[in-house]
Amino acid sequence: MNESNLMEKIVSLAKRRGFVFPGSEIYGGLAGTFDYGPYGVVLKENVERLWLSMFRDSRDDMYGVDAAILMNPKIWEASGHVAGFADPLVECEKCKRRFRADHLDDATKCPECAGALGEARQFNMMFKTHSGAMEDDSATVYLRPETAGGIFTNYKNVVDALHPKLPFGIAQVGKAFRNEIAPRDFVFRSREFSQMEIEYFVPSGEWEQAFEEWRKMMHLFATAIGLPHDSVHELEVEAKDRAHYSKRTIDFEFDYPFGRKELWGLAYRGDFDLSAHAQASSIELAYLDEESKEKFIPHVIEPSFGVDRTILAILASAYKEDVMGEETRAYLALAPKIAPVKAMVSPLLKNKPELVEKAREVRAELQKIHPAIAWDDNGNIGKRYRRQDEIGTPFCITIDFDTLGETPDLKDTVTLRHRDSGTQERLSIAEVAERIRSAIQ
Ligand code: ATP
Repeated sequence: MNESNLMEKIVSLAKRRGFVFPGSEIYGGLAGTFDYGPYGVVLKENVERLWLSMFRDSRDDMYGVDAAILMNPKIWEASGHVAGFADPLVECEKCKRRFRADHLDDATKCPECAGALGEARQFNMMFKTHSGAMEDDSATVYLRPETAGGIFTNYKNVVDALHPKLPFGIAQVGKAFRNEIAPRDFVFRSREFSQMEIEYFVPSGEWEQAFEEWRKMMHLFATAIGLPHDSVHELEVEAKDRAHYSKRTIDFEFDYPFGRKELWGLAYRGDFDLSAHAQASSIELAYLDEESKEKFIPHVIEPSFGVDRTILAILASAYKEDVMGEETRAYLALAPKIAPVKAMVSPLLKNKPELVEKAREVRAELQKIHPAIAWDDNGNIGKRYRRQDEIGTPFCITIDFDTLGETPDLKDTVTLRHRDSGTQERLSIAEVAERIRSAIQ
């Protein structure tokens, strides 16, 4: 399977099976937007939940916030986004198409029509709108270009409300908006996307240790969501490409079908953000160490994860094909923990009430382990398996006459089929429950 072919297959499966749809499709779409469908939304929630469970809920030093997307525009002035959150834009003098200059091999020639490209100008990527009935400049607000802003502005609230001891962090999952010049590569670069971000506050002398810990943690998360170890790479960002206040930044890159590209980022941001917000708001944001009575602005380590780029990395590494003679079986080898459906139960024949009744019983029993146990009695068993393979369901369970005791030794046993190998085994219902439980732990 060549790589552009793989991308086409992923986009097609995502649409056909209800993972990701083009945004506003019945109206001809809206560039750079996507909608998550029934399985996509659950996959996305499972990824976000796993992230929250690993990085917020299971730790005593982490707190959550869910800040408003619309914020006082002074936040984005202080953070430098109003003045500097821009990409270089070039326009073709002939066909008038616009491109990001830093994405072109030759920034003088149009890649579409070979016309001459004009001078690059800085294009601010923040979406602007108006708050309230006035539409003048005084009412301008921005859709947040990253979730981090809402964390920094709530730093003081969290400290005042919960009195956490340093080091501690604040985590947030939510939408971010960037008016990308050239959205592309499916959900990789879109104009509306989700981020999972952490700001981890430390005394300045402890930043290196915290940075190393988060570096390891990000790899652990990659493993937990099933990304193969050799497809995630660290890129140490050179000093000339880093923000002036950052002493270290690592891009976590993934081997996407269209090349090795940034998946997540880890940055040491010094005391830049809290100092800038303290100055611009005239509110003291220093931390008071209760023991030493010392007051100082904490430094910050920022692990930043794009949800949609994570979903695409998961789909790209999970998509597999088995060629069996004339037929090709496509399946998603999703880690059971994040698979939208954990198992599917079906009666061998749907017109046999005794099979249906038993299968319903088995499903109810398995739903005590996890609610996402699907029911499918449509078409023949082969078709049911294919459907579940394509949405990445790890297990299929079939109830037949032996389950009912036609062969006495096999009473209360079922067929368990494994997604990746396609192999089947005969197990008791209790054994199947145990298999599912241990796979999704
Ligand atoms: P790029 O250089 O690819 O534009 P970036 O360095 O600007 O990305 P950050 O500002 O570090 O990205 O944002 C943090 C994370 O948010 C990224 O690692 C990525 O996962 C995600 N992200 C950023 N821009 C987009 C986008 N347009 N669409 C989807 N995800 C994005």
